[in-house]
Amino acid sequence: MPGKPTSIRTIKQTLSEKKFAPRKSLGQNFLTDENIINKIGRAGNLAADDLVLEVGPGLGALTENLLKSVAQVVAVEYDRGLCSILNERLADFKNLLLLNQDILALDIPQTLKNYSSAAYHFKVLANLPYYITTPVIFKLIESGLPWELMVFLVQNEVAERLVASPAAKEYGALTVMIGFLGTVEKIGFVPKTVFYPAPKVDSAIVRITFNKQRERLELYPYLRQVVQAAFGQRRKTILNALTSLEPFFSHKSILTDRLWGLGIDPQRRGETLSLEEFLGIAKELQSAITKKV
Ligand code: SAM
Repeated sequence: MPGKPTSIRTIKQTLSEKKFAPRKSLGQNFLTDENIINKIGRAGNLAADDLVLEVGPGLGALTENLLKSVAQVVAVEYDRGLCSILNERLADFKNLLLLNQDILALDIPQTLKNYSSAAYHFKVLANLPYYITTPVIFKLIESGLPWELMVFLVQNEVAERLVASPAAKEYGALTVMIGFLGTVEKIGFVPKTVFYPAPKVDSAIVRITFNKQRERLELYPYLRQVVQAAFGQRRKTILNALTSLEPFFSHKSILTDRLWGLGIDPQRRGETLSLEEFLGIAKELQSAITKKV
């Protein structure tokens, strides 16, 4: 591919030469703005000892930038046509592992196993395909890998969800779980006009920086269950939502006492609870389960 991978002329020329039509169903909207690529890179604090996982490299706009800055890039692209373009275009880079796979089907720890012995800093940078944003983020954060940070270009609405406060309509399971693991920042707004083809909505760059202390992580699966119950039935009171966590939380009277004990009115909706309040319930669930087993 001659020219900068982000120039709209180069993109159109490559697509026509390869007889490739962008697939809406795969969220194929390619970045055409060098400044945005640089901004994503800067948000990632890229360093020579980083290992970066990129989801959906597309035509390689971000990939090339990463390859020049970090030790190793593992890029996972579902579209075979794009993989063949990338293989050709990025053949000179020896620090690229390009996998033609569905990120949702990939065993990520197994894929990155070979890199775990070196002292790499594990990061994810990606312009995510919008139709699977939430499952991809959950899959990445639940992979058990020692991520330091993740930078995503996502729909603006998803960015709002990640930084939402309790009771806001955007506040959801993803907000709480990521808030537990680290801190989220909205780095910048990205208008739909910088993509080809242009999507219907605007985007934003978000950065998740993971907590260094990992000792609280044993609470994660309990918090996940509580949060899932609370947001799976948003309109229910927290009391009714939690009764689905049988058999541990099935007795309403005991559960009512437990909630009051934590200073939580059982009639509140789950979506109004703060992270700290969810954590209180998760600890109760953890102790209820460990006592029974
Ligand atoms: N990184 C490129 C850019 O910024 O110009 C392309 C980003 S585009 C929004 C999303 C990319 O994700 C596309 O290349 C698409 O083919 C790829 N993709 C879609 N679904 C995928 C999946 N399940 N696993 C891996 N890649 C996927």
